[in-house]
Amino acid sequence: RVQKSDTRKSLNAFISAAGDRPGFDQEIQEAIVRHENGPRKSSLDGSLIGVKDNICTLSEPTTCASAILEQFQSPFQADVVKRLEDHGAFVTGKTNLDEFGMGSHSINSHFGPVHNPRNRYGHLRSAGGSSGGSAVAVSTQQRPIALGTDTGGSVRLPAAYNGIRGFKPSYGLLSRWGVVAYANSLDTVGLMARSDVAMYNAFRALLMAPFPKISSSPNTLVQDALRDPTVVERVAEAVVKRVAKAFSNSEYRVNLLRKFRIGVPKEYNTKEMDPSIRSVWLKGLQALQQDGHSIHSVSLPTTQIALSAYYVIAAAEASSNLAKYDGVRYGKPRELASSGLASFAETRGLFFGQEVKRRILLGSYTLSAGAIDNNFIKAQKVRRLVQSDFNKVFRRSSPLVDRQNAIANEEGVDFLLTPTATTLPPTLSSLSCKSSVDTFSDDVLTVPASLAGLPAYSIPVYCNREHNRAYPELYHIGMQVIGQYGDDMDVLCASAHFR
Ligand code: GLN
Repeated sequence: RVQKSDTRKSLNAFISAAGDRPGFDQEIQEAIVRHENGPRKSSLDGSLIGVKDNICTLSEPTTCASAILEQFQSPFQADVVKRLEDHGAFVTGKTNLDEFGMGSHSINSHFGPVHNPRNRYGHLRSAGGSSGGSAVAVSTQQRPIALGTDTGGSVRLPAAYNGIRGFKPSYGLLSRWGVVAYANSLDTVGLMARSDVAMYNAFRALLMAPFPKISSSPNTLVQDALRDPTVVERVAEAVVKRVAKAFSNSEYRVNLLRKFRIGVPKEYNTKEMDPSIRSVWLKGLQALQQDGHSIHSVSLPTTQIALSAYYVIAAAEASSNLAKYDGVRYGKPRELASSGLASFAETRGLFFGQEVKRRILLGSYTLSAGAIDNNFIKAQKVRRLVQSDFNKVFRRSSPLVDRQNAIANEEGVDFLLTPTATTLPPTLSSLSCKSSVDTFSDDVLTVPASLAGLPAYSIPVYCNREHNRAYPELYHIGMQVIGQYGDDMDVLCASAHFR
């Protein structure tokens, strides 16, 4: 049965629920008929897909969880939404988030915080952020699949906190047309699902034409590339070929027999890491080794400084991207006390939340003439170092550096395996005692892959009570697979090897 509306209101996962648009019931009926009698458009035909409220849709407003866009109705829909609709999916129900994607716990929303359903014993816990609403919509089975955005971990962290799967594809693989920019050199559209199969199907739908044209559709890729100039067509086409291959049965079996070289970055074993997470990580590595994969300790020395570089770059880009919300071009027009330039300041002062204002101030400062060399430029240099750290450990070279994407380093690893978060979901009361800068450290394991634009997949791994005495109500811990740029399908398939 199709669930049209938010059935778990107290969790605050949705900003606008589905199904209010005219003709929706009729469309659902048609999908049910296609289900029963065929032909179905694709494996997603008839599925309801939740969308983070910073991705433009035609059926509901797109608020970015901000008072400044409270009534904003986009005149067009995002490329990713169009793709899913072409496959017969109902992209509907806009999910709650941290305002403009700025945060790690979905508490910086104009519409109130998202609650993690794993709240037993009266402790309200963080749902993770910024795509917390999408994660809760999926974990509570209100949606089989949801779209989020991941700039520095916003799909992976909430996936880890909610015991579901969260995938951030390579940067520039999926079009960002219609996705409201936070930090555009880092923003990616990501996916959340409860099973690998649902994840593969949704990813395939975003890259390939619906049935019966199973072949890749370069025309659509070209269109996307024209609308989002950061789409790397050449790499996207290579990924599409790999996706098509992975979906053939024989290739799937071949993948299951593959033995991988798995890297463990020693800098990810931070001293803040919760012992139960470390122990699940270790157990997982032992199990993979028993299955014949080889485990290799590797070093990514820039891991700690990556976090600072990320927050300098993201804030700098945000300060520029958010300049347009001035109450004239975008943003709430109102009767204001002031006029002219002063009215811009009044609008922004009234309608942006605290965290957004803090990032705009930080970004404007790091871009200012006196500070740029020591902050923004330095952070960009660190970003290059982070990328080259990753390139040194992977077996395959980056297709952005070497067009052949050849095996450059026989001693290198196929992918890295790390936890997604250093802690279990914190309680909302503990977060209220923390400064926002203190919560930045919750992203330490996710931002390096974002700075390097790499694909990363957070997978829930069962954590039994023996590992987790302190929080017996939490059963899953997120483990993150990070792969070389463009190795998206390998990263997704690696999950099949986890027990
Ligand atoms: N927590 C990070 C931030 O606030 C990441 C957010 C995201 O990926 N959108 O910037």
